[in-house]
Amino acid sequence: MDRLTQERLIEEIKEHNEIVAVVSEYVQLKPQGRAYVGLCPFHGEKTPSFTVSREKQLYHCFGCGAGGDVLSFIMNIENLTFGEALRLLAERANISLPDQHLSTPQRREKEELERLYKLNDLAARFYQKILLQTETGKRALAYLKERGISRQTAEQFRLGYAPPHWTGLVMFLRQKGIPLQEAEKAGLVRGGGDGYYDRFRDRLLFPILNLRGQVIGFGGRILGEGQPKYLNSPETAIFQKGRSLYGLFQARDQIRREQQALIVEGYMDVITAHQAGIKEAVASLGTSLTVEQARLLRNQAEEVIIVYDADSAGQAA
Ligand code: ZN
Repeated sequence: MDRLTQERLIEEIKEHNEIVAVVSEYVQLKPQGRAYVGLCPFHGEKTPSFTVSREKQLYHCFGCGAGGDVLSFIMNIENLTFGEALRLLAERANISLPDQHLSTPQRREKEELERLYKLNDLAARFYQKILLQTETGKRALAYLKERGISRQTAEQFRLGYAPPHWTGLVMFLRQKGIPLQEAEKAGLVRGGGDGYYDRFRDRLLFPILNLRGQVIGFGGRILGEGQPKYLNSPETAIFQKGRSLYGLFQARDQIRREQQALIVEGYMDVITAHQAGIKEAVASLGTSLTVEQARLLRNQAEEVIIVYDADSAGQAA
């Protein structure tokens, strides 16, 4: 790509990433005069000295001196190189970057991540279909009904059911010609050689989404007898338990509007709350709240309320 094309591309990407909108995904901004102000994400402060100008498409902090355009903001807040920040913003605006922009290892990594997202999405569709459209899924549907969860809510959260077979998903992926080593990297199957088998069996499945709505992993609740009661996807290149919150994709708009987030204990608590109209509920994923999870919420809301059971496990969390 020649220099002029590259400069045009950078301009196009910046034009499609309005700075106030982008910064608002990380910092709570309030209009003040001609600018927007908020607490600086680059240094600790109690009174806002971080300003963003829509006219100039620039940000500046009067406290620590940080400043720049939307690209440097993303570089700093996400700790990325210029090229990586450019890619993130291009994706955000659905602008396709020519691949020669990436080095070979970067391209490979990007393709690998895309495959993992795709596989998780494919698995979510497979499990959802079993839940909603098959005889096998009836038991799981009955369980949901018993817990007062409507079909509409189940669809909204993309709930699914993993059949009690060892190779339900394995067979499905084989038919699609998908290499099972890939599915193993996505945390969906276990084993090796000829001996691959499904990770999730006889479980109600809760797809875990990232902030872009992509499936990054699953939480699974056993339906019959068996241990453990809850089983999550393992950590993968796209799923880190301590860095995700269940329900945040669905809750985000409401959290921003109300400036308040509610942390409940489990998957079912989130879904029940949303169905009852409490749409700012999220849950940590079977762990105590981590610093990263707290940061995710702090960027969206002024107030975070923790609603855990009063039992000893809840107290400890
Ligand atoms: Zn600052």
